[in-house]
Amino acid sequence: MASSPHGALVLFSGGQDSSVCLAWALARHDRVETVGFDYGQRHAVELEARPVLRAAIARQFPDWAARLGDDRILDIRGFGAIGDSALTAEHAIGMTERGLPSTYVPGRNLVFLTYAAALADRWGLEALVGGMCETDYSGYPDCRRTTLDAMESALNLGMERDFAILTPLMAQTKAQTWAMAKGLGGEALVEIVVEHSHSCYLGARDARHPWGYGCGACPACGLRAKGWNDWTALGRPSLAP
Ligand code: ZN
Repeated sequence: MASSPHGALVLFSGGQDSSVCLAWALARHDRVETVGFDYGQRHAVELEARPVLRAAIARQFPDWAARLGDDRILDIRGFGAIGDSALTAEHAIGMTERGLPSTYVPGRNLVFLTYAAALADRWGLEALVGGMCETDYSGYPDCRRTTLDAMESALNLGMERDFAILTPLMAQTKAQTWAMAKGLGGEALVEIVVEHSHSCYLGARDARHPWGYGCGACPACGLRAKGWNDWTALGRPSLAP
């Protein structure tokens, strides 16, 4: 794959999707930095997974290690305090009266992207890469591509820049995301994502499933397991990114 001279900032949570996005960015950008957000998540497991994932990827893929730059965790707990969702407060995970999962934090991706763009401006990066997805997703309105197109326009107007918000997983199913991991870095990358990325809403890491660690019952584990099982049923194909 021809690499892009423009640097990329990956919104890197430590979950499955953003881990595959990090590999995707490393395969096509000469310079890749990562940013994560501490918004008062109930569980710090995802944030703790981030440096482990970065190190594992750098160890396994020396070409990518040369491109992998800085990492920052931005403290936006003030925003998390407004959110009051099942991800940031002690609520049960379920559906709200608006038909959205209680894990929905209103406008979270808009806030993430605003912070990421400010950081990208400082670091001279042009691409903002995120794992938003509107296929096997949880119905969050700020994951839709139309939302991100509007956000891209707002950021470029408001910061007088030419950012591109890149969402390589937007049209992919969770099974295709596993296939994309294999296409990017073979079974070695799949193994890194399985072993070190974290998606479980409950922060559980006691049980190891074929698809990784998690409670096995929450919506995030359900999506991850279903994608893995669908991909496995297809014979673990590889998808060229
Ligand atoms: Zn879970």
